[in-house]
Amino acid sequence: PQPNPQVGAAVKAADRAHVFHSWSAQELIDPLAVAGAEGSYFWDYDGNRYLDFTSGLVYTNIGYQHPKVVAAIQEQAATMTTFAPAFAVEARSEAARLIAERTPGELDKIFFTNAGADAVEHALRMARLHTGRPKVLAAYRSYHGGTEQAINVTGDPRRWANDSASAGVVHFWAPFLYRSRFYAETEEQECARALEHLETTIRFEGPSTVAAIILETVPGTAGIMLPPAGYLAGVRGLCDKYGIVFVLDEVMAGFGRTGKWFAADLYDVTPDLMTFAKGVNSGYVPLGGVAISPAIAETFAKRPYPGGLTYSGHPLACAAAVATIRVMEEEGIVDHAARLGAQVVAPALRELAERHPSVGEVRGVGMFWALELVRDRETREPLVPYAAAGAANAPMAAFGAAAKANGLWPFINMNRTHVVPALNITEGELKEGLAALDRALEAADEHVA
Ligand code: PLP
Repeated sequence: PQPNPQVGAAVKAADRAHVFHSWSAQELIDPLAVAGAEGSYFWDYDGNRYLDFTSGLVYTNIGYQHPKVVAAIQEQAATMTTFAPAFAVEARSEAARLIAERTPGELDKIFFTNAGADAVEHALRMARLHTGRPKVLAAYRSYHGGTEQAINVTGDPRRWANDSASAGVVHFWAPFLYRSRFYAETEEQECARALEHLETTIRFEGPSTVAAIILETVPGTAGIMLPPAGYLAGVRGLCDKYGIVFVLDEVMAGFGRTGKWFAADLYDVTPDLMTFAKGVNSGYVPLGGVAISPAIAETFAKRPYPGGLTYSGHPLACAAAVATIRVMEEEGIVDHAARLGAQVVAPALRELAERHPSVGEVRGVGMFWALELVRDRETREPLVPYAAAGAANAPMAAFGAAAKANGLWPFINMNRTHVVPALNITEGELKEGLAALDRALEAADEHVA
């Protein structure tokens, strides 16, 4: 693509004048003007091209501008761009069928939303109405979305400013051996103690007051902590014992990210409700949803479900989902992610961890990896403090700048960088990105104590 700095400057000027950005102090940000994107790359108006190790916000699982999905959107737009949610529409029916075919167990009814946060809102509303109980238990190390309930069940610091509506939300510690809250030294100890902590929390909150436990199957933004063997089965057992609805949030982990259709498949666990969004159609058109168990669907068989959206099951978004799922099947994208994760990413990141003193831990699966950056490997002191901003965050900012200077767009959250590229990235592109990451980590190494 030809550089066009003048157009870039106009795009940037209008953005700065009129676009109010998410999660940001508006005058302290400097958004890059993006001219285009294809596959695993995007480029600006000045002729710089970046390999995207973020998949946008971990959602373009099939990369940018997949021609078959773009064509399906064009075709749907030409025939039925939109239609109200109360009607049966081909794209909506087919998307629901294809999703239900892939969700674990008997999660066979699909309620469509516009994105992930409202999927979480509706899952929790269903759980409260189904049980008649008020409370929801959620993990501190979590992110569930930016709307009222979703941000309150979220554990990360973005919750703090929104805590006014947190009535009915209780946070607990899920397992995370590297930063164990339970003085555990093995995954087995961490698992057993985290389950004991959760059961005690349930008992002291009063089991008859707890509607739902919500967990990301594999927490994403909070750090890609794979739950130890037996943890999710243990939570399933506690939910059954106390009549609590088990909600798994697969908004980020779902649709192939872990090398399985859903992360729940890695653990052979079936929740009562499962939220999804992002990878369902790679975000080409906004779409999310809740997959619902037969027992909860039954609650709303004769009694109306008090919730809905104008765009629930929007035909354009659903057509994109149908095409995305078919493309993922045809091109073997889920298996590709599993294979490259195990054969390329895992050994490469372990090798980087040996050479770079700033890397405290490497963890992940499929195309879902985190590097925990530390000042000191022994004490595990994070490279920047929890929720650091401004000067305190300088080491991570330096790492980010070094990655971009090497043509790599990195995912950064607190003291971590995540390797979360498109699932259909080629082996060559992946190796190019890992080499750039290697060079960028030198900037982080400079801040090791
Ligand atoms: N749940 C999880 C696990 C997520 O990672 C996200 C977004 O990153 C959400 C929910 C919220 O989704 P959305 O931003 O589409 O509302």
